[in-house]
Amino acid sequence: IELSDGRSLRAQYLVGCDGGRSLVRKAAGIDFPGSDPTTSNLIAEAELAVTPPAWGTRRDAIGIHGLGRVEYEIRDGQIVYPDEGPVRVLVTERQVGATAEPTLRDLSEALIAVYGTDYGIHSPTSISRFTDAARQAAAYRKGRVLIAGDAAHVHPPDGGQGLQTGVQDAVNLGWKLAQVVKGTSPESLLDTYHAERHPVGARVLRNTMASVALRREDERTRALRDTMSELLGMDEPRQKFAAMMSGLGTHYDLGEGHPLLGRRMPDLDLSTANGPLRLFSLLHKARPVLLNLGEPGALDITPWADRVQLVDADYTGPWELPALGPVAAPTAMLVRPDGYVAWVGDLTQPGLADALTIWFGSPAAG
Ligand SMILES: Cc1cc2nc3c(=O)[nH]c(=O)nc-3n(C[C@H](O)[C@H](O)[C@H](O)COP(=O)(O)OP(=O)(O)OC[C@H]3O[C@@H](n4cnc5c(N)ncnc54)[C@H](O)[C@@H]3O)c2cc1C
Repeated sequence: IELSDGRSLRAQYLVGCDGGRSLVRKAAGIDFPGSDPTTSNLIAEAELAVTPPAWGTRRDAIGIHGLGRVEYEIRDGQIVYPDEGPVRVLVTERQVGATAEPTLRDLSEALIAVYGTDYGIHSPTSISRFTDAARQAAAYRKGRVLIAGDAAHVHPPDGGQGLQTGVQDAVNLGWKLAQVVKGTSPESLLDTYHAERHPVGARVLRNTMASVALRREDERTRALRDTMSELLGMDEPRQKFAAMMSGLGTHYDLGEGHPLLGRRMPDLDLSTANGPLRLFSLLHKARPVLLNLGEPGALDITPWADRVQLVDADYTGPWELPALGPVAAPTAMLVRPDGYVAWVGDLTQPGLADALTIWFGSPAAG
């Protein structure tokens, strides 16, 4: 790797977390297929010399636009803006394809095109441009090079899903890479990174592209938007979409079994011999946890004891998963450092040794 100060360094692995224009992705020759932008938007915070006659959202042939003060109150369900203070502007540009950093002049011209005036906009504290381009890396790993975050997927910002998807990429990859580097696990463990995270990214691209399409201003799209609103007014579709867009409904395909398998472990309130604790506190050290809610001492994982925490606990609360609702109470489960469940079973331990080996390496010689 060539550094900007002229130095170079060699590493066993390289993870490109260098954004949508990722140099690492390009240098590794990883394809980035997808669709070019059809809309371009500016989002900014600035001051206006003239107060607009109306705040809020406007739709027209150019697209969707919005003006509002950064600070506001909600009174009786209505947004109430103060008379003064900085303004947040969202404006769709007439042209797609600008590549330079956006300027105050770009913002002013875009406002004039929509509102007939720029309201004397000045003193911006931020101006960003975003588009509805949607692209995803064909492979999240190529040999010793991996990519995560926007380097692996770019999509419209609808639903605020980009950052959390990227953070979950990193959390999925981090512990796997650590185990491979330490020699605990074979290199093939890294292939599960693409296998698990690529489908999640693909779903984010799909739902954000659909969201952009739903914003079009024609009669048929309006009818489709109303139909979608009706569907999302129903509990089941709404819960499913909320679980998908928040990432809480992510399900990795780890085979058949209890609904928890491949899903995110809920943050249970546990009782242990050492007192109460929250399950997530067991994950703070990024080490796997085998949780035994059955007879204490009944599980034996001695050959993995150096890598896996075995916790005997009681849990008497409900078992409910995002979008799925109530599920049967499991007796024992193996939770990966990223919080996903790799095995669910009982005290006879069927398949536990295999799951421990797949995810956390071969048993230590006894
Ligand atoms: C208008 C808008 C609103 C959004 N709202 C949300 C939201 O509400 N919720 C959400 O989850 N996401 C949101 N997102 C998406 C989110 O901002 C991105 O998904 C996220 O920032 C991606 O993080 P990243 O670290 O992968 O990439 P980036 O944030 O792009 O970071 C990449 C970093 O790499 C550095 N870099 C690049 N090349 C090099 C190089 N050659 N050498 C050294 N350094 C380099 C860059 O300087 C940068 O610091 C929004 C995006 C937009 C445009």
